[in-house]
Amino acid sequence: MTAQIELNKVEKHYGAFHALKSIDLTIPKGQFVALVGPSGCGKSTLLRTIAGLEGISDGHIAIAGKDVSHMPPRKRDLAMVFQSYALYPHMTVAENLAYSLRIKGVNKKERRKKAEEIARITGLEELLDRLPRQLSGGQRQRVAMGRAVIREPEAFLFDEPLSNLDAALRVNMRAEVRKLHDRLGATSVYVTHDQVEAMTMADHVVVLRGGVIEQQGAPLELYDRPVNRFVAGFIGSPAMNFIEGTIEADGKSVKLALPGDPIIAFEGTRPAGEKVEVGMRPEHLLPGGSGSSLTIPVSLVERTGALSYVVSDTDPPVTVSSTDRMEGIERQQLTVAIEPKRVHLFARESGEALL
Ligand code: ATP
Repeated sequence: MTAQIELNKVEKHYGAFHALKSIDLTIPKGQFVALVGPSGCGKSTLLRTIAGLEGISDGHIAIAGKDVSHMPPRKRDLAMVFQSYALYPHMTVAENLAYSLRIKGVNKKERRKKAEEIARITGLEELLDRLPRQLSGGQRQRVAMGRAVIREPEAFLFDEPLSNLDAALRVNMRAEVRKLHDRLGATSVYVTHDQVEAMTMADHVVVLRGGVIEQQGAPLELYDRPVNRFVAGFIGSPAMNFIEGTIEADGKSVKLALPGDPIIAFEGTRPAGEKVEVGMRPEHLLPGGSGSSLTIPVSLVERTGALSYVVSDTDPPVTVSSTDRMEGIERQQLTVAIEPKRVHLFARESGEALL
């Protein structure tokens, strides 16, 4: 149980549509990997090719060192967990959990024993004799996971398993899925469109766009060092601010296309006069800070209690997030400072990171 998964130059065409383009990805044994990206980027297709539910047009997939590129799903020894739980409505939790064992011909006593063991791991002990309709959404999701666990697969493949759950439960279940992964020492591949889910659950995040891996790495590596504007804008909530800018004569500061033409210092050097996109995360704009700063007219403030989001009345708007309540600053001017090392520069055309 528990295997490394390797994808080598995997291609997928649906007729004329090129859904996956030269995907190289190694998922080490025991790692939790999230595939993330906007709708239609190919994340489900990628997961389904690993599962064998979709054939690949070119390239190779290996599980535990064995080439499975053209092997049918049932021989790959993987377990998939979907958002629709697909539980058998007329079977109890115990019977649902042990269904795969029944198919394998395991006797009733053994099945019950195994179901009880899995129920302990997944927190379902009290619910073994209930029917699916007598369970909450979160409990049903746990049964779906338990059913995957009981098969002792080489790896778990999750396709947006939490998206049917309400916000609070989703946060709880994130932690539960991750704990289960750790307890089993499993290899997990997890598809989500929710970058926060990907960031908080995974060891390694893969950002896809248009069938291409834009960047992959540890969550905070993507956050701190995005390789292009797309990744920079996709990872992080609220999103990074992007403002047009022109590199100053010193090559170490940039003039922003905002009221007052503020000049912001950055770490490194770029050619004078170069036109760039300047990226600044909302939490790196510090109200009242000193040094390189910009002054923005405040249009609105959203206060969540823990954090306040200030949005400027500029085009494009600038968002500042702060732990301060930012009381009484509506329609005032706000000066915010930014440290040079927090400034990102991107090429205007290609969007590539320049620093
Ligand atoms: P979402 O978050 O919306 O589920 P996704 O990233 O999971 O998106 P996929 O389902 O992998 O996206 O689809 C990737 C692309 O491949 C989409 O443009 C989709 O329309 C296309 N596609 C998927 N399945 C097929 C198919 N069977 N035939 C033709 N095109 C398909």
